[in-house]
Amino acid sequence: LNPNNDNFTPEELDVEKKLRPLTFEDFTGQDQVLKNLLVFVQAANLREEALDHTLFHGPPGLGKTTLAHILANELDVGIKVTSGPVLDKPGDLAGLLTNLEDRDVLFIDEIHRLSPIVEEYLYSAMEDYKIDIMIESGPNARTVQINLNPFTLVGATTRSGLLTAPMRARFGISSRLQYYKTDLLTTIVQRSASILNMPISMEAAIEIAGRSRGTPRIANALLRRVRDFAQIKGNGKIDIKIAKFALQALNVDAHGLDEMDNKILTTIIDKFKGGPVGITTLATAVSESSETIEEVYEPFLIQQGFIMRTPRGREVTEQAYKHLGKIKGPTQGG
Ligand code: ATP
Repeated sequence: LNPNNDNFTPEELDVEKKLRPLTFEDFTGQDQVLKNLLVFVQAANLREEALDHTLFHGPPGLGKTTLAHILANELDVGIKVTSGPVLDKPGDLAGLLTNLEDRDVLFIDEIHRLSPIVEEYLYSAMEDYKIDIMIESGPNARTVQINLNPFTLVGATTRSGLLTAPMRARFGISSRLQYYKTDLLTTIVQRSASILNMPISMEAAIEIAGRSRGTPRIANALLRRVRDFAQIKGNGKIDIKIAKFALQALNVDAHGLDEMDNKILTTIIDKFKGGPVGITTLATAVSESSETIEEVYEPFLIQQGFIMRTPRGREVTEQAYKHLGKIKGPTQGG
């Protein structure tokens, strides 16, 4: 089971699409972000202008792609979807840009992974809705400037720290998505269960939500697996008994921590006596980049009270020892 994985089978992709909220009203949580977006969208609609370029950043699975689609829906415009690593050459981007209709949304996932040439090419498109394209080749080669329809670039990134300053400056709207509290995830699990026509008890929904690492994508993935157990091993309904049985069989951590979360905690405890340990040292010890630790893993571990940031580095809390069933020894340096 790897709910962080985006590689769905066609059947799963179908379910995934069904579960995706389509309007602001359908979307649970991220209240402040949504409230602001609603104002910006209404204003853009009123003025019949393209919405300002919008950046969503935050850990994976919290709804960045979903929000990009919702924006297009609420603006009543089309959306074209691509991602940083896919856009190899300026020509690929030019093809997409010249096909955008007035006020359309161009969604670029993993925008921090654009190549520098493509990124630079995007600047004038974002700023003046103009691009230069090269026509003909050899001695006749020349560039012509073409006007684009006003459009909205929606960028998503898990690694806002890796965005270049000029890129960041070109987004008029920038929103950080936060992990979801269990009560919100419970609502999401209940909504998804109802779309899947799957009866679920409140207790079972809370249990699944609590083990979903604050992440709707994981909540939905767990719900689908628990549903399999309920249909094959249970009576077709998801109650707390079958939910607990399934989650145990799936080896899901009681707090929904994933492998890397647990590796980070174990490493701080076993190799650094619980900390404090500097981020670079920690990153080397767990073979992950310090940016990924800071942007993807650490926020959740801090929110859940497993680690603390201190001026001298990262330290695990009592709760981390308890969670891993480890005994606290003498602390680093003392
Ligand atoms: P990534 O950056 O990894 O692509 P993401 O942040 O773009 O992730 P989405 O693909 O938008 O995440 O969301 C993952 C799934 O979680 C969606 O299919 C959607 O069904 C569900 N989801 C996300 N946010 C919400 C929400 N607020 N309410 C209900 N479902 C949600």
